[in-house]
Amino acid sequence: MQLVNKILLVSLLLVVLPLVLYYYFFPTFRDLFFEQKEITPFSRYAERNILSQEFHLVAPDHLKYNQPSIVSGRTDVVTVTPWLAPVVWEGTFDPVLFDSIYKQKNITIAATVFAVGKYIMFLKEFLETAEKHFFVGFRVHVFVFTDRPNELPQVKMAAGRQLTAYPVPSSKRWQEISARRMEFIQELIEKELHKYADYIFCLDVDSRFHSRWGTESLGGLVAVVHPGYYRADRSEFPYERRPESRAYVAPGEGDFYYCGGAFGGLLQEVHQLAKTCHSNFKADATDGIEAAWQEESHLNRYMWINKPSKVLSPEYLWQDFKNINPEVKIIRFSGVIKNYAAIRPNV
Ligand code: UDP
Ligand code: MN
Repeated sequence: MQLVNKILLVSLLLVVLPLVLYYYFFPTFRDLFFEQKEITPFSRYAERNILSQEFHLVAPDHLKYNQPSIVSGRTDVVTVTPWLAPVVWEGTFDPVLFDSIYKQKNITIAATVFAVGKYIMFLKEFLETAEKHFFVGFRVHVFVFTDRPNELPQVKMAAGRQLTAYPVPSSKRWQEISARRMEFIQELIEKELHKYADYIFCLDVDSRFHSRWGTESLGGLVAVVHPGYYRADRSEFPYERRPESRAYVAPGEGDFYYCGGAFGGLLQEVHQLAKTCHSNFKADATDGIEAAWQEESHLNRYMWINKPSKVLSPEYLWQDFKNINPEVKIIRFSGVIKNYAAIRPNV
């Protein structure tokens, strides 16, 4: 080889080799010595859930189920919102397909329920019916916020399902119990649930399951349309109407009226919701204002701005005293009839 070529080759190596080495090692060195990766409570969550859990729907090979159609289906109800989020009604999903997809994800679903004061009396039926209908076959962790942990009912739970009592103070005003739910939900997510739960549902205790509430209800941010207002004009929705409140929704605004008694979704989404509603509620209190329906008003304001990615029909929270309308083919979860004067600390 000519001397000139040799010099060229060596000088090329001298340039290329350090470059290769630099790109190969630098990220490692940088991570080790220069930049500490920020570990947030949600870093495990962000990596594992948001990407692989929620958006990656893998069906098992050779699964047999009914052929889907895009030209025939339910025509008596609207099954998609104007922002193209599904509205879940009976007949719009295949439970076998759904469960098969989510079974492979090995998910944990947390549920929170408040049973403060006399409301502990509703817990037994709530838990017993949840065993029969709520995410059957999945890992479920129910957290009961209560001031009476000694009065927790004995309910036999299936393998993979568990119950934990979370002590909270008693209160003399039901409005306060209702108002502090967001605060405790936020706290539970930050202290405990971020370690292992993927999804969470926050439910009223004075209710019972009657039929399946399963994986079809999973989504980023999930809201239930209130059974009392789903046919009403939005001018009739009981939103907070005073502009001084942070729960204010102006006339002519709002999509649906959502329930405070059932909402959920991915842990991170519900954390954001609980945190926002709690801090808005507190700021309102400082200004001497309490929204018309406490946290339900704040939730409705939040869902107006942050559109739910899945909307559950009133099948998912009916009221026992209401007559059933023809579009409601099934009732999955329903509030019991109760004597407010007998069970609330104040009326
Ligand atoms: N709650 C409670 N103790 C009370 C009042 C309310 O534990 O004294 C909790 C309970 O979980 C209940 C929820 O707050 O389901 C909402 O209150 P409630 O069911 O009375 O409201 P409604 O559904 O009648 O609007
Ligand atoms: Mn209720």
